[in-house]
Amino acid sequence: MPRYVIDEAALRRNLEVLKGVADKTGVRILLAQKAFSCPATYPLCAKYLSGTTASSLFEAKHGHDNFGGETHVFAPAFIPGEMDEMLGLVDHIVFNSPRQVALYGENAHARGVSVGLRVNPEVSVATTPAYDPCSPGSRLGTTRTALDSQLATPDFRLPALDGLHFHCLCEQGVDELRKVLAGFECRFGDLLPQMKWVNFGGGHHITREGYDIDGLVALLNDFRARHPHLVVYLEPGEAIALNAGTLEASVLEVQPVGADGVANVILDVSAACHMPDVLEMPYTPPILGAMKVEDGELGRGKGAFRPPFLYRFGGPTCLAGDVIGMYSFGKKLAEGDAVVFGDMAIYTMVKNNTFNGLNLPDIAIRRENGCIETLRHFGYDDFAARI
Ligand SMILES: *Cc1c(COP(=O)(O)O)cnc(C)c1O
Repeated sequence: MPRYVIDEAALRRNLEVLKGVADKTGVRILLAQKAFSCPATYPLCAKYLSGTTASSLFEAKHGHDNFGGETHVFAPAFIPGEMDEMLGLVDHIVFNSPRQVALYGENAHARGVSVGLRVNPEVSVATTPAYDPCSPGSRLGTTRTALDSQLATPDFRLPALDGLHFHCLCEQGVDELRKVLAGFECRFGDLLPQMKWVNFGGGHHITREGYDIDGLVALLNDFRARHPHLVVYLEPGEAIALNAGTLEASVLEVQPVGADGVANVILDVSAACHMPDVLEMPYTPPILGAMKVEDGELGRGKGAFRPPFLYRFGGPTCLAGDVIGMYSFGKKLAEGDAVVFGDMAIYTMVKNNTFNGLNLPDIAIRRENGCIETLRHFGYDDFAARI
């Protein structure tokens, strides 16, 4: 039975790093639940972070009910029928456009909810278009041109804004943040004196090895010194649970070496179902004790170098593209062997699915005392309830 195992000690190490940044700068850090939403870890996370951010009513309710602290929400457009419940759950709501602010802003203020606008600083730093909210034609965030032209529309009145929000990074560092912030201040800096807060979004890879934490602290302190009246938020998802969990799988079958010289291995986990970012991003996840081999690295033709024990891992679905990647092992693999994928806490449990009727892996946690506790087990009813 495959399972995700969240590593509580690794999670705490990440949280300590993030709290260090908050303590040295006075910024508030929120958990972006879309990356990681394990309620069993929320009491621990809540000791280190200021609250949660959500992308929907359900995530907002989940953060509000399980985490406490501040509850923020952003959506490209809100669903009218959900707004009343939403405003009872969140303390900060970020709208994507001036028209959304006009639609819901007054009501939000009346309910005591702080109102923000997501802006588009038009600085593209993300390396993949799918993860670049500043790409031309993006629907995410309001450009300065769009804001000004909306404000110039006859009869349009924008309710007061308390904050501005931008989110332009994906797994990135301080240099990229510096570029985005410069663009943000250049285009929207004149609005900052009227604001109470600014949200720098997510995508800050703060807990990655080699991340320039001192540089981030310096950048944040510089911004805070220039705008002392503003509360600054960061809302990373990935950085909170980076490398804080594994997916334990096992080998169902090792196929004979194929025409391309590589043996396919069928696992009891699927990229399509259980680690969808492998196909969406796409990327090749690490396997503990094995080496990733990119297709282009393989020598071709007779006598070409081949790493030993070379396998291509794939899932048990009917999807031809349900391929996880190619790896070189230290030994020959056999049926029943364990295969452990690294960095599987983020964008996995929140995103998996039962395509092909595959069951979902258990969710477990390795407590700091070493004990592994199963938090969730799934079965036919979970599959049947969704179709
Ligand atoms: C995805 C997202 C985040 C979190 O991003 P990470 O890359 O997981 O840090 C934060 N804010 C917004 C608006 C997002 O869309």
